[in-house]
Amino acid sequence: VYNFAAGPATLPDQVITQIQDELPSLRGTGMSIMEISHRSALFDDIINTAQQDLRDLMSIPDDYEVLFFQGGGTGQFAAVPMNLATKHHRIALLDSGHWAAKAGAEAKNLGYQVDTLASTKATHYDRLPARTSTLPTDTYDYLHICTNNTIEGTAYHDLPQTNGTPLVGDMSSNIMAQHYNVSDFDLIFAGVQKNLGPAGVTLVIVKKSLIKKVDHIPSVFNYQLFAKKNSMPNTPPVFNIYATGLTLKWLKKIGGIEAMEALNKKKSSLLYDFLDQSKLFNNPVKHVDRSLTNVPFMTGDSKIDQAAIDDLTAHGLLNLKGHRSVGGLRASLYNAMPFEGVQALVNELYHFEKNL
Ligand code: PLP
Repeated sequence: VYNFAAGPATLPDQVITQIQDELPSLRGTGMSIMEISHRSALFDDIINTAQQDLRDLMSIPDDYEVLFFQGGGTGQFAAVPMNLATKHHRIALLDSGHWAAKAGAEAKNLGYQVDTLASTKATHYDRLPARTSTLPTDTYDYLHICTNNTIEGTAYHDLPQTNGTPLVGDMSSNIMAQHYNVSDFDLIFAGVQKNLGPAGVTLVIVKKSLIKKVDHIPSVFNYQLFAKKNSMPNTPPVFNIYATGLTLKWLKKIGGIEAMEALNKKKSSLLYDFLDQSKLFNNPVKHVDRSLTNVPFMTGDSKIDQAAIDDLTAHGLLNLKGHRSVGGLRASLYNAMPFEGVQALVNELYHFEKNL
């Protein structure tokens, strides 16, 4: 089968096989990864290697920390303002979709002022919000963007100018699926469960100069504490960090982000090209803003959409139902989805349309 789920999502076969092979006894210990202490030299090696592989793959400069949290992207919607919005208590937001809006709502709920600079909600987030006016200096603690909008299928291929305001990117659904310069951001966060591993680890890559002592915030979201304790002030998700580490090794082996981005462009182009010539299916997203990793499409008739989903499922093409807020279908083409999976999808969509 090919699994097009939006996350948790398909993982490389090689990673699953290695987990199976190593499960009874990791590196000759006689214990599985799920049973070893995080206060062991073995786990130190696992977490440090994963961290170094992240640095290598993303060319993370030395003045950035790489931290591993639990709590998901949603946890970071709270953690980022608590750690960063300490001066102005005021955040700027580009509202590009469901997850950007959620981040804003969480910050607002915690008492921060959130100014939405631009939004494309009125057009159902079919494009990224344009921001033409210059950000005022020394007004916002940061500008929040969602680099890839998982539900609506848009992505920033160029970043907005911030005029000195720190830039925070929620990269949950396209981290390492396409290239970004880490130094263009002041903080990047991402749950690993789409492109990099099983659910349970959230990466935070943050400029060291932004990490400050902050009082009265939960320890499990305290960047300074996590930086000091190598992401282990308490028990980390040992298995998930291990499995993420295996996926990072796999990514390195296949050529890193450059190779991945080329493959993801090839995969998504195949599907977009089909959709653009189809008389039945339509992708509503403005072409220049199209995502490489999440492709929503629909017929305009929910019964036909469902018939297509049923047909694809019968052919082993799974989890193609669109998010309830958009409807239709959605194919998530994350890093571990092979080109052959997208070929199989396009072939079946073609047959479905022809036989309708
Ligand atoms: N941000 C983006 C872009 C997402 O796609 C998601 C989940 O799909 C989240 C945040 C929320 O992540 P989590 O479920 O890990 O809290």
